[in-house]
Amino acid sequence: LFLVFEGGEGAGKSTQASALAEWLAGRGFEVVRTREPGATPLGRQIRSLILDHSDDAPSARSEALLYAADRAHHVATVIRPALERGAIVVCDRYVDSSLAYQGAGRELAVEDVEWLSRWATASLVPDLVILLDVDPGVGLSRVERRGAADRLEAESVSFHERVRRGFLDRAAADPRRYLVLDAGASAGMLADRIKVRVAPMLKV
Ligand code: C5P
Repeated sequence: LFLVFEGGEGAGKSTQASALAEWLAGRGFEVVRTREPGATPLGRQIRSLILDHSDDAPSARSEALLYAADRAHHVATVIRPALERGAIVVCDRYVDSSLAYQGAGRELAVEDVEWLSRWATASLVPDLVILLDVDPGVGLSRVERRGAADRLEAESVSFHERVRRGFLDRAAADPRRYLVLDAGASAGMLADRIKVRVAPMLKV
């Protein structure tokens, strides 16, 4: 079972992914909790190439290829092996982040990003995407309180608005595969809604 959390900055993905992973592990499942970008040693180098630059930011196409390279490695070395041995994978960000950030946000053609993602993952699609939808103003102020806002503030509000729309459009196009939640709800309430959706998917 492959479960993915998506959403903009400050949506609470990591909190909810950890809570879900803990709940599943408590029920006796092997859970692999992972994230993009940067879950592997190679991935961490790629993450740093993309995000830790001072004055040589990658172009939009270059950025898309770097995220795709991270994802290809992550799928081949972590996600697929885990799924093949029957583990549940809980992943923070996946293909929809590329469609939202590189596609909608950076305005690359969505079909190109889709094609690249399909190639990178050899067509591995999540069973469920949990989209924590957050207003960029609210999300960014949460991130600011964590002291991680410098890089994010370099992007315009309209960039983050496009990203949000990108996520919501994906969810609307394939509603059975998405659980869209208002990230403004309390963490406990969100965790409960997620459990209710995931429980029937578990093979016991
Ligand atoms: O989820 P996390 O905060 O670790 O992601 C790091 C950053 O990478 C995010 O702030 C997001 O802006 C960016 N990102 C991106 N495109 C992706 C995945 C992440 O721009 N496909």
